[in-house]
Amino acid sequence: MRIPCFRDRVPGPLAWPVLGAAFVLVCLAVPLCWTAEGSQPAGPARSVASANSPGVSTPGASTPGASTPGASVVSGTPVHAVAVVNPATLPAVARLDLAVLRSAYPGVVDGMERGTDGLLYLRLRDGTRLVYDDGKKRAPREAREHPDVRTMLAQIYPLGPLTPAMARPASDFNPGRRRVTALFKALYGNSQAEVRANCVKVNFDGHEELFNARHGAAAALARVAARIGALLPAHPGWARVLRPLGGTFCWREIAGTDRLSAHSFGAAIDLNAGLPYWRWERWPETVPAKRLAFPSEIVEAFEAEGFVWGGKWDAFDLMHFEYRPALILKARVLAGQVKLPR
Ligand SMILES: [Zn+2]
Repeated sequence: MRIPCFRDRVPGPLAWPVLGAAFVLVCLAVPLCWTAEGSQPAGPARSVASANSPGVSTPGASTPGASTPGASVVSGTPVHAVAVVNPATLPAVARLDLAVLRSAYPGVVDGMERGTDGLLYLRLRDGTRLVYDDGKKRAPREAREHPDVRTMLAQIYPLGPLTPAMARPASDFNPGRRRVTALFKALYGNSQAEVRANCVKVNFDGHEELFNARHGAAAALARVAARIGALLPAHPGWARVLRPLGGTFCWREIAGTDRLSAHSFGAAIDLNAGLPYWRWERWPETVPAKRLAFPSEIVEAFEAEGFVWGGKWDAFDLMHFEYRPALILKARVLAGQVKLPR
């Protein structure tokens, strides 16, 4: 029986050495390919490490006690080797703060790390490390000017309608006035140009205002505007607090300080700038009544969307609302209104 096609495909005598050499090369290549495949998991790990500071633990190393020796700059402070901390082993407040930050800013926070200095650090996905707890006892001014993350979140924002007691806050009770600037920069942009590029226009009471689109801030302001806009026709008196609108994004330092305002990050809005502000209020004794007269529905609309109101601060700033979803969330968790995954 003749099988012509097969016969026609059999190589001639001169082709055999070439095929033999090719076979040897293939045999050598197969183990090489297998080795490359086998080492594939190491690829992403290297790229993660190189994308961050040298020696930074990879996200996969989040097992208790796992550590990678090395060094990294922490907001311009000296370097530390670190060990990733299992959240279950953290002190209760640190565990809550970590859960709150993770929920308020999804995809931003990696976890907590313990430095060789024994301090806890908050590690962000972009490789930024912020001191969570430096163990220092701070006077009120120091707590405002140089807070660690724990201090920033320590004062619990009082949710809900203002009561007569809330209209007279304790001295230096200013939940939301402590800000870790490095965190704000990581969240919203490192420079005026970066923040501006991250801002979008939001229509608020008929004005197109720039607000930061990152981490849901602009979308939250748009929802606040919708909530207030729906109620406004029935409350013409609200015009005195809403208008003229003070503004939103403005890269500037807080008056009398060298710290960047939340307005610098496009994450705060001022309503009528004629509303009481602690630095220039001539009749502070009238302020509790003015706080109580402020439309509670407006405060409620902002708080529902993750904003805190400066009208609840000892250093009162009644025009000022600031997007601080972590503070609002922490207050809700402690009030038993929501539960967070731990
Ligand atoms: Zn303001």
